[in-house]
Amino acid sequence: MNKVGFFRSVQLKFIIVYILLLLIAVQVISTYFVGQLERELVNNFRGSIDDRVDVVSIYLEQAFEKERPEDQSGPSLQEEIQSIVSEVDTVEITSLQVINNQRRILGTNNYLEQDIINKKTTEDIVHNVLRDEKETHTVQLDGENGNRVFIKAMPIWNDDDTVAGVIYLKANMEGVYAQLQRINDIFTKASLLAITISAVLGIIVARAITKPIKEMRSQALTMAQGDFSQKVNVYGHDEIGQLADTFNDLNDRLRDSRATTEEERRKLSSVLSNMSEGVIATDETGAVTLMNDAAGHLIERDPDEVIGAFLLDVLKIEDQHHDISELHESGSMVIDYSEDDEPFMMRANFSIVLDEDEDVTGFITVLSDVTEQEKIEQERREFVSNVSHELRTPLTTMKSYIEALTDGAWEDKQIAPKFLHVTQNETERMIRMVTDLLQLSRMDSKENTLHKEKVDFISYFHDVIDRFALNAADHFTLKRQLPPSPLYVWIDKDKMTQVLDNIISNAIKYSPEGGVIHLVLKKQKRSVTVSIKDEGIGIPPEKQDKIFDRFYRADRARSRKLGGTGLGLAIAKELVDAHHGKIWVESKEGKGTTILFTLPLISPKRRGGG
Ligand code: ATP
Ligand code: MG
Repeated sequence: MNKVGFFRSVQLKFIIVYILLLLIAVQVISTYFVGQLERELVNNFRGSIDDRVDVVSIYLEQAFEKERPEDQSGPSLQEEIQSIVSEVDTVEITSLQVINNQRRILGTNNYLEQDIINKKTTEDIVHNVLRDEKETHTVQLDGENGNRVFIKAMPIWNDDDTVAGVIYLKANMEGVYAQLQRINDIFTKASLLAITISAVLGIIVARAITKPIKEMRSQALTMAQGDFSQKVNVYGHDEIGQLADTFNDLNDRLRDSRATTEEERRKLSSVLSNMSEGVIATDETGAVTLMNDAAGHLIERDPDEVIGAFLLDVLKIEDQHHDISELHESGSMVIDYSEDDEPFMMRANFSIVLDEDEDVTGFITVLSDVTEQEKIEQERREFVSNVSHELRTPLTTMKSYIEALTDGAWEDKQIAPKFLHVTQNETERMIRMVTDLLQLSRMDSKENTLHKEKVDFISYFHDVIDRFALNAADHFTLKRQLPPSPLYVWIDKDKMTQVLDNIISNAIKYSPEGGVIHLVLKKQKRSVTVSIKDEGIGIPPEKQDKIFDRFYRADRARSRKLGGTGLGLAIAKELVDAHHGKIWVESKEGKGTTILFTLPLISPKRRGGG
């Protein structure tokens, strides 16, 4: 905000109003005062003139009344009149003429106009007095010098109440007006002085009033910049003082609420940045306003760059959805970002943000990586379908054989035992499968604790091979390649036997009769590697990864015929993992298969334990 210029300030307005009020007051006072004074002075002036003329008129009346001897001894009327009027000085009454009722001038007090004596007067006012027999007066401007002149004419009465003559006088009023002017000058000077003093006082008062306001303004500016540490001074308890108090109060509240907001913001941002879920906030148009690091990580974009971009573009779902509000209606969706070799699924949950009027002000999208979840879910579905399928097959077979038996085949001594044998086989297969499944499920839920013990793997391996050699010696050649000295491992013998049994029986199952099976054990630095190699049908490369999956059989028909369920290697893998080993396959189609696994050796330093 820029500064308020002096010409727009309250200060100037205040001073102007103040001075105008003063001027009006002075004007009113002076008009009244000067008018009154003028009237007073003029009245005084007239009063003094009247008083003097009254005296003169008494003498004049006597002079006119006086009986004069025929011989003309003693002064004539004119001489007597002239002597009376000569007494009147010309300071104020510049001219005092005595005129007889024939309008002839008998005397004047002014030496300069002695020549008018005995001449007839031309003044109308004299004529009027003679006619009306009434005193009259007027104020005129002197044609020569522009002075105000008081003119008065009054009759001189005879004893018989007839008019003997007229006193005509002219008095200069300039003295009165000069006095008035002097008083006016004094008044004007005093007024100017008063106005000047008042203006100065006005400036001081205006300053005093506007100072706290100015302070509050600069404080408001400081507050706008986020600094709530300062307070304004409170100079009193008047309205402005109260305003300053309220202002300080407001400052405190703003500071508190800002601190709260700041605290909330920090909490929110720490929650957002520590969340493993990605969060994207958008405005009501769908433009991104906020995005946490987790979201940036999930969609592989810099959160700062994404601000302002559209959510549908950011999530790359603009071809599936055109309107952001559709997303909210769908609640959540799984977006597949999988690439050829890398699966990546993301779940997005959408919710709307409403203001107090229930209007939509934005959307919140929460993103989570559900690749693993989706994979597990997929596997679970496959597993359930596999189990159902695998159980159904033997059951269907058994059902049809049992139906045949009930339909009468049981009486046939040749067929009945065969049929019963099949159902028995199928039942055993089912039991085996259910046992395997149970074992896997126990291993999944980590219930299956291993009973490990220190075992010399060489002699143990020999024992296992011996058992096979006894049973299959006629059909297969088992070639061993084992080091002579004992190698100690920490294993659960029963479980390890299960692993080896399955691998060796697979080798036998998937090899033609008379094949050679190599059983090799190699010592590494800290582990042993067991490999069982056959010269059988082999496994195509694309299927090699999958043979450790549950229910997976490379060649379904052949395996089924051989009584396999596809769980053997899955269990073997779980067990080898539980022994902290690794299992893998090397195979060439038509040439043979090698299954290899490792087991950690007990280090010579470690005795017992596990
Ligand atoms: P189960 O062992 O449960 O009776 P199975 O032998 O069919 O049944 P796995 O032992 O898990 O199941 O083996 C999975 C699949 O891997 C087999 O069906 C087979 O196709 C393939 N396979 C395993 N070992 C060999 C091998 N030595 N030669 C060729 N294929 C094999
Ligand atoms: Mg098997």
